[in-house]
Amino acid sequence: MTVRIAGEALNACSGCEISFLDMGERCITLMETLQIVHLPLLMDSKHSGITGRDHSFDIPEADIGLVSGSIKTDDHFHLARAMRKACSTVVALGTCAGHGGIPAMANAYDNQEIEQCFLSTISTDQGSLFPSAHVPALMDTCRAVDEIIRVDHYLPGCPPHPDHIFGLLTALAKGQDYDLPAKSVCSNCPALRNGKGEVVRLLRPLDLPAKASPGTGESRNGLLCFIEQGFLCMGPVTIDGCGGNSSLARCIEAGVPCRGCFGPLPYPGDQRLAMLNALVSNGIDMDSLPETRSLLRFSGGHGRLTPPFGKKDTRTDGS
Ligand code: SF4
Ligand code: SF4
Ligand code: SF4
Repeated sequence: MTVRIAGEALNACSGCEISFLDMGERCITLMETLQIVHLPLLMDSKHSGITGRDHSFDIPEADIGLVSGSIKTDDHFHLARAMRKACSTVVALGTCAGHGGIPAMANAYDNQEIEQCFLSTISTDQGSLFPSAHVPALMDTCRAVDEIIRVDHYLPGCPPHPDHIFGLLTALAKGQDYDLPAKSVCSNCPALRNGKGEVVRLLRPLDLPAKASPGTGESRNGLLCFIEQGFLCMGPVTIDGCGGNSSLARCIEAGVPCRGCFGPLPYPGDQRLAMLNALVSNGIDMDSLPETRSLLRFSGGHGRLTPPFGKKDTRTDGS
């Protein structure tokens, strides 16, 4: 039986779709059982008709719908609903879809501030107005996909590793589940942990070996825990698995701290609260943190990131 796949990118950078292509020759293997019926990255697709005036979202019926990106405009909202209607199973592909992702950092500001930011950039003609015609209207907040439609499966990552995309699609085609590790990046980190440190801003290159080897908690190649060196590493509160079939997290392997892109553990936890908890329980002085909102840089959806406390929030539910 052929399994039909449809895909759409909402408030997205297309990195998740590039990761789909990064499956490489495995795409050909998948095509033995899967048929792509709609995927704008690979095939021409116009939602506004040949004239550009029909405002409709016709998604062909599919068994699996891959939705990447979060939801910040009217178009994203209606496109997400069209995907839900057309697809029997919906996958939130990537951390934007699952948790809001980088675009949800906009939730730290209200729309007037976002518009002002656009108007004040050097590439915007002075005296311009914020566009309102022929562009979709902004919603009040940037939302994860499951804040608007029901989601059946989540595949986090910014972007998700091609190994996981292949694994998930292969499993779904067979009617099976696909589980990610239910543990943190720390749980599989080879760094040596033995002390405590003061958190400072990362302002200089880390004096570390370029590569670390997978391990079982022992120090390898001289890698010392980033937090204990005084650098924020989101490993304690981030789900493991970003390395795909490799056992080591991608950033740790590259010799830099985890920034948390695989999202909170457990789903749909609050990475900021969990990280503050982890730091305090390690004796780290909260005053040494210059700010904490960036701890939600990948998971500011679900109402977790809002304009600063005390600032007037003029937003209403725009859905
Ligand atoms: S999860 Fe990352 S790669 Fe995927 S659309 Fe969002 S920003 Fe791009
Ligand atoms: S905090 Fe970072 S460096 Fe330290 S053990 Fe966890 S993942 Fe490894
Ligand atoms: S180590 Fe952390 S930030 Fe880096 S890819 Fe993995 S989950 Fe994302």
